[in-house]
Amino acid sequence: MEHTNHPRAGIVGAGIAGLSAAIGLRRAGWQVEVFEKSTFKNEVGAAITIPPNATLPLSRWGFDFKKGGAVQNLSRRFVSGLDLKMITNQQYPEIEEEFGSPSLTIHRVDLHQGLRKLAIDPDHTKGIPVKIRLGAKVVDVVPDTRTLYLEDGTSIENDLIIVADGSHSYLTQKVNPNAGSLEPTGRSVYRCLVPMQRLKDDPELWSFWDGETPGFIGFMTKDPHVLFVAYSCRGDEIMNYAIVHDTQKGEGEEDLWNAPASKKQVLEELASFHPGVQKLMDPVDEGEIAVYHLWKRQPLETFVNGSTALVGDAAHVMLPTHAAGGSIAIESGGILQVLFSGITPGDHATIEQRLKIFDKLRVPRCNLAMILSNGGPWALHDPEVEKQIRRFYDGPLPSKEDSMTWERPMRELLFHYNAFEVAEKALQGTQD
Ligand SMILES: Cc1cc2nc3c(=O)[nH]c(=O)nc-3n(C[C@H](O)[C@H](O)[C@H](O)COP(=O)(O)OP(=O)(O)OC[C@H]3O[C@@H](n4cnc5c(N)ncnc54)[C@H](O)[C@@H]3O)c2cc1C
Repeated sequence: MEHTNHPRAGIVGAGIAGLSAAIGLRRAGWQVEVFEKSTFKNEVGAAITIPPNATLPLSRWGFDFKKGGAVQNLSRRFVSGLDLKMITNQQYPEIEEEFGSPSLTIHRVDLHQGLRKLAIDPDHTKGIPVKIRLGAKVVDVVPDTRTLYLEDGTSIENDLIIVADGSHSYLTQKVNPNAGSLEPTGRSVYRCLVPMQRLKDDPELWSFWDGETPGFIGFMTKDPHVLFVAYSCRGDEIMNYAIVHDTQKGEGEEDLWNAPASKKQVLEELASFHPGVQKLMDPVDEGEIAVYHLWKRQPLETFVNGSTALVGDAAHVMLPTHAAGGSIAIESGGILQVLFSGITPGDHATIEQRLKIFDKLRVPRCNLAMILSNGGPWALHDPEVEKQIRRFYDGPLPSKEDSMTWERPMRELLFHYNAFEVAEKALQGTQD
């Protein structure tokens, strides 16, 4: 049913970014339609970290963390993969109190399902339920006419278009013709999920977690540069492994999230690791490991063109160093909610003006997260990284000594962010 008194938004892609934008706009009073090329049959089996900057919008939208099996993330231990000596042990049990929202890890499928529920929930007090069209591939967007074109030949005109078609975006360059191409980073990730009970059943394996504060553990070696990170999800029933390594021949050439990898490949990467770390692969079944290549794109100067905006990986694809990619995409949903409340259908001048504010808020913040993430755990030790950040962001940065991933100043910089307040302040600034 058409709701003609409401402005219309078309969103390309129903990943974390597209769904978050849909929820925000729905709550701002928009009639939202999401076009998703897949049929959601191959949802991804892996976990994701959602720090307070992401859990804050999710909480505000009523995300059910309990149902989603979200698990507390209150520590980050980095251990030498060679001899198991502690490199750094960050404990942040007070993070929820300090930043106003919890730090969690969650299975991707559970996050996605929770977001979908918030988008389509039939309760009209939350706005018009979002319509998600599956198997609907968008082949073009024309920002000047606010029109998107589907593969079946249909064209749809909107008041606003949000492009959230992910890292392999075909549409990024339609919105920002100066955007560079996607580039391989040379790094890939093996990932798999292990039933927690299998780890608990073996005291040697479980010793890495027994009595420890819930959170990440990372085993690392510098040469070869391998980082094996493990954290829990789905109500502590499943352990997520991610093994970041230099891409091996034949890996990551396909545009696939689920390209299979063997235990042998993983153990070759872990060859120099302590036997106790290698043994962590024992409870993993052959056939359960996937490999994904990590991509990057040079930072964009703008995410906006007229009444069309880029969000999520389509705007800022990055390495997972700071758990930032999905989280800042969720933030963008909160920003959209504030900036696009009270808009009259067809008021293109106001919509374009609000998108300019969106751009002013998102380009510095998202490019900061992306450049830091792509620079790795010691990014700020490289003066070139800071120079690149300064092209977009002029706020405070941690000193290089305190800048490692999840150290306190870095947590303050990346995770202490209230998207709603930031957008309200920016909007007020234009109305004073
Ligand atoms: C190994 C790894 C670990 C990560 N860990 C974290 C973490 O801990 N925390 C965190 O915040 N982030 C993390 N990230 C980043 C995070 O996963 C991404 O930033 C996030 O999933 C991007 O969401 P998206 O919606 O932009 O893109 P996607 O999830 O790729 O969604 C894009 C959607 O668009 C659809 N689509 C594509 N083209 C079209 C089209 N033409 N028409 C219609 N639909 C289309 C696709 O089918 C897809 O559903 C990690 C990333 C990786 C690779």
